Amino acid sequence: SPRVVIIGAGIVGTNLADELVSRGWNDITVVEQGPLSMPGGSTSHAPGLVFQTNSSKTMSEFARYTVSKLLSLKQDGQSCFNQVGGLEVATTPERLEELKRKRGWASSWKIETRLLSTDECLEMYPLLDRDSVLGGLHIPTDGLALAARAVQLLVKRTTKAGVRYLEMTPVTGIERSSGRVTGVTTPKGSIPADIVISCAGFWGVEIGAMVGLPIPLLPLAHQYVKTSSLQVLAAPNKASNGAHLPILRHQDQDLYYREHGDRYGIGYYGHRPMPVVAASLGNTPENVSEQNMPSRLDFTPEDFQPAWEASQKLLPILRNAEITDGFNGIFSFTPDGGPIVGQHPTLDGFYVAEAVWVTHSAGVAKAVAELLTTGRSETDLADCDLARFEEVQLAPAYVSETSQQNFVEVYDILHPMQPKASPRDLRVTPFHARQQELGAVFLESRAWERPQWFEANAELLDDLPAQWRPVDRDVWSARFHSPIVAVEAWKARTTVAMYDMTPLKRLEVHGPGAAEMLQRLTTSDVLANSKLATYTLMLDNQGGIRSDVMVARLDDESFHVGVFSPVAMDYLLREARQQSRRDGLRWVQVRDVTGGTCSIGLWGPLAVEVMKATNSTDIAGLPHHGFCEAFISGVPVLAIRLSHVGELGWEIYTSVEFGQRLWDVLWAAGRSYGVVAAGRGAMNSLRMEKGYRDWGSDMTTEHDPYEAGLGHLIDLKKPSFVGKAALQGRSERTSSRRLRTLTIDDGRSMVLGKEPVFHEGRPVGYVTSAAFAYTIRKPIAYAHLPGHILDGAFVEIEYFGRLIWATVTDNPLTNVASRREQP
Ligand code: FAD
Repeated sequence: SPRVVIIGAGIVGTNLADELVSRGWNDITVVEQGPLSMPGGSTSHAPGLVFQTNSSKTMSEFARYTVSKLLSLKQDGQSCFNQVGGLEVATTPERLEELKRKRGWASSWKIETRLLSTDECLEMYPLLDRDSVLGGLHIPTDGLALAARAVQLLVKRTTKAGVRYLEMTPVTGIERSSGRVTGVTTPKGSIPADIVISCAGFWGVEIGAMVGLPIPLLPLAHQYVKTSSLQVLAAPNKASNGAHLPILRHQDQDLYYREHGDRYGIGYYGHRPMPVVAASLGNTPENVSEQNMPSRLDFTPEDFQPAWEASQKLLPILRNAEITDGFNGIFSFTPDGGPIVGQHPTLDGFYVAEAVWVTHSAGVAKAVAELLTTGRSETDLADCDLARFEEVQLAPAYVSETSQQNFVEVYDILHPMQPKASPRDLRVTPFHARQQELGAVFLESRAWERPQWFEANAELLDDLPAQWRPVDRDVWSARFHSPIVAVEAWKARTTVAMYDMTPLKRLEVHGPGAAEMLQRLTTSDVLANSKLATYTLMLDNQGGIRSDVMVARLDDESFHVGVFSPVAMDYLLREARQQSRRDGLRWVQVRDVTGGTCSIGLWGPLAVEVMKATNSTDIAGLPHHGFCEAFISGVPVLAIRLSHVGELGWEIYTSVEFGQRLWDVLWAAGRSYGVVAAGRGAMNSLRMEKGYRDWGSDMTTEHDPYEAGLGHLIDLKKPSFVGKAALQGRSERTSSRRLRTLTIDDGRSMVLGKEPVFHEGRPVGYVTSAAFAYTIRKPIAYAHLPGHILDGAFVEIEYFGRLIWATVTDNPLTNVASRREQP
């Protein structure tokens, strides 16, 4: 097997060594700067609370795996997980509602939970203040990871299996040759390696700098204290670190609790963010102890004061205690709260697995081991992929501000649409000024400002025909939403609307090997017709969907490629580099042209009239998926006849300097046809009505094209493409589950995504996307459901504890949209 070096013997590095060994790899060295018995990183003092429920399916699955692995990791009959259960309490009505939403996630990800009344909370946790607690959520399988012990057992187990551990050995450099890692440098000499994985925790930034890789994490100090001894805990907890009560979260006050024998341990996120530069912490001391380790800073008692008061209120018993030990412990935060897992974009063999909580550690390690040994992780990694960040999001100032914000919000109730408060206006399109004039309400994604709707369209609300009128929403689903969205959907279906499509990634794929590479990576014949663009898929080697893509061949060696995520771009960049290296004559170059260009979607039944009014007859006459380079009133454009809303029209691209002019020209031509500017709210609704899937939610690497209902994009006549072999014998008929459309029967109850779906009382799936479908005047949702649940079946969606009836329908609402563009 390849020679592997893992940097860091924390909970992530040791789990990774173990996962690799169990997959048969046998040449592994773990290099740790501290002493192995207590390395001194975040793991060495982590209290180890494992709350599994997370809004992310991936993160919840990682947590579930960590629990099962630590339960099975035993010595002397004692495992590394104390499954005392988890209890989250609500002290405000908003939190009580939030716990219902959280219970929904848990059901979606198949974690057992129970909502508790105040009485039931008190029964389970008698030390709680009855007057404070409105209710709770109990998760019986949560509990305490004995992280430091797990590290020691994993070191022992893997050492037996042949893994070498080098302690007191800092990695000071990464060696490389011809774009590959060849080893690591240490003061004791070089260690050769074919693969290096940095599991250096909050030192990740420093390791990344050794290979020119910005790592978007920020080390932050977080306060943790232990109280004096409490009689009430002494009797049940014989062991000094024992616990018998559930781990407890009081998120309304940013607090969590566990027992350490007869003492309470209390963690607090309510204090000011305290960023740390890992490099400033100096070398690991030779004798690391509980009190003396690089990840442990001095306690700042004044920051803890509000936490102590809130704790004494929630747990009155604490009024008899005092804080005897406290510290500010360091660990990593990231711009979106997710871990950082993946490959260096240009240095082959270099991987990272950082910013990982103990909670997710074994799950992340398993995923990385799968990635290394089979080329793909069973669990979709989009939520943690290093490549998910755009370049601007790697700027130190951005990482610092957003990671601190993440610390502040770590226990907050966050709406799924809630945009960042800051930084804003980082990336604006050339249409921004015009959009502001029209009263655009912007949300933010990947640092782009994206209009959600336009207040200027409010004046059309009175013109809405009765069958298009929006229905009232509940308070939660009404947030970041406006009834104006209905106007924008109506106009796109009946006249014409302009959408700013600039933030969608556009790539130029160029070179003598470009055609060969795109043929190899996509499921369709992208060369079949030089005049038509091809909507197709990229798969992984097991047939999982890496991305959907739009490919237009501009000339023999040059392609316009639309992808929908930076992760897909990273894949294409990597493949291009590898192909160029393999065969210098068939080189291929991938260039991200998103920032230098812009794009308008002009869509609706009257789009042709608008195009004709600009005298752009070439474009107006394009067939479905046809494309051409032409001029619109003097503006050089590339136009492709495609739409994301299921209406006739084009996506029109130009370079940034012409953007405003293009907007103005189309706007002027569209005025007499009633053109409106429309936002993402309408677009999401229209694309769902038409059955279009969004990569990342409706389809991921966990789904094959047949499950996603995209079997028609697979050209099995093509001699070969990545993933083809894995699809042999599969079809929509043989899929055990399929993405289905659900229409909500009462015509008004909204869901927003990730809610569990039940059939005959059993959880069978979860909502991947949801919208109000204005064309049929009903909310709709997508969910992957078992194949035996047929059209017309009734299912229930749980929304804040309430069950909403929905009907399974076959795929897109073609009955209403058949007269319009086909995908
Ligand atoms: P670490 O444990 O920091 O390991 C990284 C290792 O890399 C270190 O041992 C370090 O010495 C080594 N290293 C770094 N640079 C080099 C180098 N150049 N050469 C060689 N070795 C190097 N998480 C939970 O899930 N639940 C909790 O309840 C919880 N509570 C927490 C409470 C506190 C106070 C703190 C600080 C953190 C808490 N966490 C919790 C977070 C959790 O501790 C960390 O996320 C986790 O331990 C990180 O594990 P790791 O293996 O990635 O990093």
